[in-house]
Order: sequence, then C-alpha cells, then structure tokens
Amino acid sequence: MSKLHISYNQIHESIRQSVDRYHINDNFKPDLMIAIGGGGFIPARMLRTFLKKTERGNIPIQAIGLSLYEELANAGGEEKPGTQVQKTQWLNFGASHSEISLLGRRILIVDEVDDTRTTLAYAVEELKKDVEAEEVRRGMKPGESKTTFGVFVLHNKLKPKKRDLPEDIMKNYFAAVEMPDQWLVYPWDALDIESHTELANKNA
Ligand code: 5GP
Repeated sequence: MSKLHISYNQIHESIRQSVDRYHINDNFKPDLMIAIGGGGFIPARMLRTFLKKTERGNIPIQAIGLSLYEELANAGGEEKPGTQVQKTQWLNFGASHSEISLLGRRILIVDEVDDTRTTLAYAVEELKKDVEAEEVRRGMKPGESKTTFGVFVLHNKLKPKKRDLPEDIMKNYFAAVEMPDQWLVYPWDALDIESHTELANKNA
C-alpha cells in the first residue's frame, strides 16, 4: 500500500478549512471534545484553536484510549478473523465531576483517521451507554438529557467500512479530508521531523 506523509502545517490547514466548510462553530457548536488516543490527541488540541470558546471558556478535552486488534473468532466451528476494540483508558472527570458531565452536552469525538470505522463505532456505542447510565442514575429517562454526539476526523478513507455509525451521528460527521485508501504517516510518529516534512511537502 502506498504511503502518504502528512505534515503539521498540512493538518493545521485542513482543520482550519474544514471548520469553515462545515460551519462547525455555527451548526454543531461543540462544548466538550473526547479525543481517542493516541492519534486523536494532537488533532483535538489543534481543532480547539479554531473553535469558539463557550461561556465557560476553552472547550474541555477529555481523553479515551482504544486499541484495535484482530482476533480469531470461532463462529460455528469455523475460524474467522474478527476485529475487537479494547479500552485502554476511559473518561475520568476527577475533581471537576460536578461541572463536567456528559449530560446535555454537545460532544465532539475526535480521532485522526476513519479507516474501517470499527474504533469510532465502538467509541460511540460505549459513550452512549455511559450517557444512558448517567441519565438513569439521575432519575431521567434514556435520551431525556438530549446529549448530542458528533465526530471529527482528520482523514476519512473512502472504502467499504466494517461498521456503520448511527444516523444521528452521521448528521454531525466531519472529515477534514476525504481520501482514497492509503497508509497515512502522521508527523507525531516521525523520529526525524525535517525529513518527514520534506516528504509531506513533495506529496503536496
Ligand atoms: P479503524 O479501522 O477502527 O477506523 O481505525 C483504527 C485505528 O487504526 C486508527 O485510529 C489508527 O490509529 C489506525 N490507522 C488506520 N489507518 C491508518 C493509517 O493510514 N495511518 C496510521 N498511522 N494509522 C492508521
């Protein structure tokens, strides 16, 4: 598979342009970001620069860690590869728990790349479960808090996806760049940032 190097400057520009293109500040208006680590951390922080502050100030960024692995699932005696996601880190509101809850929020889930969509679908499913559990804890009906989720990715690979995202999420699905299926090399993985950037500029 061909490799495409991406520079920090290219990411900065793609994010800036996509915030305008999707009118994220006027339409979705996120007030909480949940970055999927490690690839979603730096994009979430870069994205925040272009998002309007809320009345409480900068949009908080919470972190979750998910890792994707292939496993051999035994389906009806037939061994076939399955894809599993594992939580390596989950929400921790710590001391600010009373102020930062998921309920009633406009939550933007941020990751670097939507490849097979497995990770994003899992993240959405688990976060929705958390919202429902919190609603029940507070004596509310499921869905009563009107918590809204959206997704922001730097790159969406145009390919058949293994999982779908629910319709309500797809209404607020923002991909800075849509691209054919190829392997993306991100600057935060570079050991030599100068040669990485040179390669990225050659592709541009
Ligand atoms: P998924 O297949 O669940 O959409 O993506 C799972 C994860 O695989 C992504 O969060 C990312 O960490 C990794 N991944 C998928 N495609 C690429 C790619 O082209 N480049 C890099 N660096 N990671 C990728």
